[in-house]
Amino acid sequence: MLAAVFRGPGELDVTEVPTPGAGTGEVLVKVGANTVCGTDVRILRGEKTRGVARDFVLGHEFSGHVAEVGRGVEGYELGSPVVMAPAIACLRCHYCKRGMENVCVNKRIVGNVVDGGLAEYMRVPAEAVSAGNLFVAHEGIPPEHLALAEPLACCVNGLGNYRVEMDDTVLILGAGPIGLFHLQLALLSGAGKVIVSNPSEDRRVFAKELGAHVVADPTAEDLSEVVSEHTDGLGVDVAVICIGLPSLVNDAIRLARKGGRVNVFAGLSGAGWSEVEANLIHYNELAVTGASDSKRENYDTALRLIESGRIAVDRMVTHRFPLAETVEAIEKSASGEGIKVAVMP
Ligand SMILES: [Zn+2]
Ligand SMILES: [Zn+2]
Repeated sequence: MLAAVFRGPGELDVTEVPTPGAGTGEVLVKVGANTVCGTDVRILRGEKTRGVARDFVLGHEFSGHVAEVGRGVEGYELGSPVVMAPAIACLRCHYCKRGMENVCVNKRIVGNVVDGGLAEYMRVPAEAVSAGNLFVAHEGIPPEHLALAEPLACCVNGLGNYRVEMDDTVLILGAGPIGLFHLQLALLSGAGKVIVSNPSEDRRVFAKELGAHVVADPTAEDLSEVVSEHTDGLGVDVAVICIGLPSLVNDAIRLARKGGRVNVFAGLSGAGWSEVEANLIHYNELAVTGASDSKRENYDTALRLIESGRIAVDRMVTHRFPLAETVEAIEKSASGEGIKVAVMP
């Protein structure tokens, strides 16, 4: 079969590899779509090395159909549409026992270590099958839409950390796919007003179409004036950092009202440092949280949100490439043009 194998930074080999089969406890998935993520770009550029191996098939946002069911596996039928939560947690460590499997210390991520979805077939490991990481989806949803359950699940996890209360004013910093998911989740959670900040006009227009009440261009407008105008000078209840720009952390804590909540959702570029005015956290009693990966329950929620049409996944996939053009697909994604790029084996 054809697969996109990561050999090392800058080296993605789209090549023939042996087609896997489903061993005992495993399920073989015929991949329908794998959407490209910023993490794939960072792995390929050598910017993300933690928990990343070599000589594995890239891709962690995928969906497909059950092609083979291994011995001893129950609950999956040939041809059923499926999606997989790519973080395989150990379920035994300190964090797993306390409901934080997303930060499991023994976590293995598909498309980072285990062979992922940028291939014609993907073998789901037995421990992932038995843990319920493979979800059966409703029939009739395009595979590239189902694949978005992965990034959406990560956003649902983040939402659990920063919370949106009824009528809150929420500031979304960055309108890439992640920002656009947080926008939609904030609206579904009852936000009274959502302000989205992004330099790209196309993305601001799209955010508006998805329901943002206010959009701002941070390169042309003073964001603190925009926020002040729309919050009676108080600041926002919640600010979510959706692009890994270090300076945004300080912007977020400056723009939050007293008692507000700030979520560093995006991993910051470079070494991850950001200089912040920590006294704002102190005097304004801010709650600053992070977000890492997702739990199986977030995946379950994300899938239901997609199946019921409450998240506009159909409008978020803007480009499609065949598997043989995976390198071009990743370049397209890295260019920032469009929203989500899907590779369709
Ligand atoms: Zn991703
Ligand atoms: Zn664990």
